[in-house]
Amino acid sequence: MLVSLTFDVEQDCPPYLNTTRGMEEGLPKILDLLNEKNVKATFFFTAEMAKKYPNLAKRIVDEGHELGCHGFNHERFDKLEKNKAEVIIKKSLDILREFGDVVSFRAPNLQFPRYLFSALSKNGILVDSSRARYKGYKGGIKVLDGVLEIPVSVTSSILRLPWPVQKFIHARLREPRVYFAHPWEFVPMQKEKIRFDCKFNTGDNALILLERLIDYYKDQNAKFVMIREYLDVYNKKT
Ligand SMILES: [Zn+2]
Repeated sequence: MLVSLTFDVEQDCPPYLNTTRGMEEGLPKILDLLNEKNVKATFFFTAEMAKKYPNLAKRIVDEGHELGCHGFNHERFDKLEKNKAEVIIKKSLDILREFGDVVSFRAPNLQFPRYLFSALSKNGILVDSSRARYKGYKGGIKVLDGVLEIPVSVTSSILRLPWPVQKFIHARLREPRVYFAHPWEFVPMQKEKIRFDCKFNTGDNALILLERLIDYYKDQNAKFVMIREYLDVYNKKT
């Protein structure tokens, strides 16, 4: 059984807030937990956050996690003109690759038009995780314009539901089991003027639930794989 933990590393709850409490308090807590559990994960960074917090981007690479790309400053690629989108993809990758190899991509808001896949492969992206089963993605892992597509399984707020509720959801997932969350979910957002689903159980509760999820999969002897590792998984199968 394979399971992937991924984190979209960005400012707090875009586009509603511009603070970065998640970077300062949330991300270090996530990394400490993963270290303690000896689990490797994928962190899709906006180039803006990597520039602002180079030590965190460096820490991710140094600790053996995967650094992926989440655009420049969380722009919606489906709302950009094609040429402009291509320039942003290249510019973001140039910045992120100063920290290490980057071969995986996830578009902000999981919105990425099909016509931009060629821009990913042209820029050395081998794996994309911008589509989601809960947003209508059908089938499993497939190749689109030379890029391996790894769909996300469930939306991030699922991981903050009370454990007795969310465990039924986990039990029903098919491979690939790909979760995502954000650093800002691990700091208390209850006082912010954002949607209820963005703030319930944020803070320490989210961290406790993430630990529970890791333990749940460890109890089943699941293997934690980073997004780039699906290249090996796929090549072995075909
Ligand atoms: Zn995002």
